[in-house]
Amino acid sequence: MFDLTGKTALVTGGSRGLGRAIALALAGQGADVAINYRGNAEAAEEVAQQITGLGRRVITIQGDTSEGREACEAMVKAALGEFGSIDILVNNAGITRDNLIMRMDAEEWDAVIDTNLSGPFWMTRAIARPMLKARSGRIINMSSAAGRMGNAGQANYAAAKAGLIGLTKTTARELASRGITCNAIAPGLITTDLTADLPETATEALKGMTPLGYIGSVDDVAAAAVYFASDEARYVTGQVLGVDGGIVMGS
Ligand code: NAD
Repeated sequence: MFDLTGKTALVTGGSRGLGRAIALALAGQGADVAINYRGNAEAAEEVAQQITGLGRRVITIQGDTSEGREACEAMVKAALGEFGSIDILVNNAGITRDNLIMRMDAEEWDAVIDTNLSGPFWMTRAIARPMLKARSGRIINMSSAAGRMGNAGQANYAAAKAGLIGLTKTTARELASRGITCNAIAPGLITTDLTADLPETATEALKGMTPLGYIGSVDDVAAAAVYFASDEARYVTGQVLGVDGGIVMGS
């Protein structure tokens, strides 16, 4: 099940947190992996070494997904140059710049929209042509429970993550006829650097709202990515999978 031998993947923001866990999980199932990172070359190299240890091919690609079309095209080109094809794109890179609406400034709004929504769009735009040519592909977008239910203090983040769901469904519809699927994962609260600074009261409140009653791990999310990347998920597209302890129960 979920054998990814012979497949190649590009994971944005793959040097830590969920991206790191996804890169390692894909490699664990047999995929070769291109790890995009923005600033921390050392952390990316550490993930790369682990993947090499698994006997898979790996490259690290520096690049900022928020910089738009050319930057995203360059990352895809680098991965294609190394592997020849990319079967799986994971749009994972994301940031928060939390503030209440009345206090949110343009920099906070723009940074989050540019990274969490425009980044995945330009990455998808760049990978669409080679995937269309190959007549197969898997695009996996990292949304969030916040994008499905809203979250006070996260207007920018929730809007970007909700927008990403719209992008996911549109990508799924546009590319379906060529065997390309696009799905989103919407994690709830997962322990990573992104959530490390949350005040304990906020963490406890979120736990209280979560039917399963505890915070998820990066491996819970990585397992969902492996599934969406697999051949077994060929008939699944345009879906949003909550990996959130039940905090959002979609119909
Ligand atoms: P993290 O901060 O630990 O990791 C994010 C990674 O993305 C970092 O390596 C960072 O350098 C990279 N990144 C950020 N901006 C980038 C850019 N412009 N270009 C390239 N790389 C960039 O966060 P995480 O918790 O691992 O989050 C990963 C994704 O999952 C994000 O999209 C986040 O919104 C989403 N998510 C996380 C949670 C959670 O609870 N941790 C919940 C829901 C959704």
